[in-house]
Amino acid sequence: MDDFKDLLAVSTAIHGHICAGQVIGVRMAMLALSLLGIDDPKGVDRKKLYTIVEIDRCATDAIQSVTGCSLGKRSMKFIDHGVMAATFVHLEKEKAVRITALEEAREASRKYCTELENKYARQLEAYKVMPDAELFKVQWVRLSIPQADMPGRPSRRVQCEGCGDWVQDHRDIEVSGRILCKKCAHGSYYQCEGAEQ
Ligand SMILES: [Zn+2]
Ligand SMILES: [Zn+2]
Repeated sequence: MDDFKDLLAVSTAIHGHICAGQVIGVRMAMLALSLLGIDDPKGVDRKKLYTIVEIDRCATDAIQSVTGCSLGKRSMKFIDHGVMAATFVHLEKEKAVRITALEEAREASRKYCTELENKYARQLEAYKVMPDAELFKVQWVRLSIPQADMPGRPSRRVQCEGCGDWVQDHRDIEVSGRILCKKCAHGSYYQCEGAEQ
């Protein structure tokens, strides 16, 4: 596995800036890979890892960059809990580890890089050198990933009887005998402007 500096440089380039989230995300993903025994997540091991992220903030880009897991490949799932945590699943070994970034790390970082006066600069540098135990909580967990959430070809593709959109991967819902997309069944996140084309 590439070392921390190289991985941080790549994630920083993808994310667009260096930030504490990049440092935390890279280190979290590296810790997960080492705990799961995955050496080459973007190469020979690329079908072994599945990641569930619980927040859509900076560190998520770093996790994607290090693991190679992504929404588009269906190897990353976003569960919107607003928690700086992610669960990393070894699909072959059926082992999963959830890692949470500790809030206490902010306070603990004061002991490190004391020569830096700016709080955010100090935190960023401190997070690079602090031991994993001060940064993260690690839990071995069990979960089942629905087959319809796994990578691979869609196992189902149906047309919504309400709006005509095609719905893949068992996201359709049957309401009073009609097959509907989620927006027709539960309401949409948008309103149409003017006439439809
Ligand atoms: Zn950032
Ligand atoms: Zn519909």
